[in-house]
Amino acid sequence: MSSAKLLMIPGPSPVVPRILDALAAPTVSHVGPEMVHELRASCEALKQVVFCGGGEAVIAAGGGTLSMEMALLNVTDAARDRVLVLSQGYFGRRMADICGAFGVAHDIIEAEWGQVVSPGELAAHLAKTPYAVVLSTHVDTATGACAPVEEYAKIVAPSGALFVVDGVCATGGIAERMDAWPIDIVLTAAQKCLGAPPGLALAVFSERALEKRRSLPRIPAYYADILRWLPVMRDPAKYFSTPCVNEIRAFYEALRIILEEGLEARFARHERTGRAVRAGLSALGFTFLTDPGSLAATLSVPRYPEGVDDAAFRAGLYARGVVVAGGLAQTAGRVFRIGHMGNLTADDVVFALDAIERTLAGLGFAGEADSAVRAAKKELMP
Ligand code: PMP
Repeated sequence: MSSAKLLMIPGPSPVVPRILDALAAPTVSHVGPEMVHELRASCEALKQVVFCGGGEAVIAAGGGTLSMEMALLNVTDAARDRVLVLSQGYFGRRMADICGAFGVAHDIIEAEWGQVVSPGELAAHLAKTPYAVVLSTHVDTATGACAPVEEYAKIVAPSGALFVVDGVCATGGIAERMDAWPIDIVLTAAQKCLGAPPGLALAVFSERALEKRRSLPRIPAYYADILRWLPVMRDPAKYFSTPCVNEIRAFYEALRIILEEGLEARFARHERTGRAVRAGLSALGFTFLTDPGSLAATLSVPRYPEGVDDAAFRAGLYARGVVVAGGLAQTAGRVFRIGHMGNLTADDVVFALDAIERTLAGLGFAGEADSAVRAAKKELMP
């Protein structure tokens, strides 16, 4: 398609032809043999991606926000439990809003934008107040900050609280080792590091999280109640609500690609790609919103050099075939957000950096020719 643009927004990420072909495969019966196989296999593969040996995965039509609701409501007794939200920016605040919408008592620790909540602050809160659930964003998509979730997990575990991680901008690109760390729920979505089109709410529940759900007589949810979904996930010939068959076929293909690449290789590739993008942008004079110790492998948030206009820059880049996103909330106009996740290739990175360099030159900010691409290539092909 000649009008296709390289999507380097922080999700959806580019969907490769193998996955698009699977999306275009025939619509089959939602309870027929193809779906029984592909949905079952997708649940197992998703558990592998987050290193969950026991437990169960849930795959439902929806977005990451539905996964957030699903995770919270299935392990929280709104009459008794208090939850703690660790917010690295925009999406932690959303988690707190969801708590508010369902009347769940909660506290929130908010990091300054670009920083992460310090493990010490988490420990201090846990020492003062008994929490039933602690929820943290892994990578905040507004700030590019990657939280130390393994460290958080080690602090939460002795308190007895369940630990829930929002992996929407991390799962499949950055390790989330549910059994080892431990994490009780990874909630996520299809459209970022997993490389599938948007449209699926995903969550993996540990045995402990499942036990908690089973202990709750009633939760304020119907579609998001995992007790309605689990029989279908175990045996997709059963019916609860018609699964989005074509999306699931595409997601199954996306998971096959991930496991073919290998999880550790994929995590290393994301690290390398992140370093390459940042090296290229630094060579062009960009600095970053995110604290250097918390830079995410999956997206970057460069600050514009003095005098570069956000709208003109992004329009110029779009005309050269690359789509990036603007800053959210208080960062609007001052930064842009560039995703480097999913099935993005080294050639895509080089193409994007070259387009960024030419766009800046077009706006009168010419630097040394090819400096971004040269800096990136050093990281991509050491
Ligand atoms: N959490 C994080 C960290 C996200 O980045 C997003 C989406 N950008 C969401 C939750 C919400 O996902 P969705 O837009 O699919 O509802």
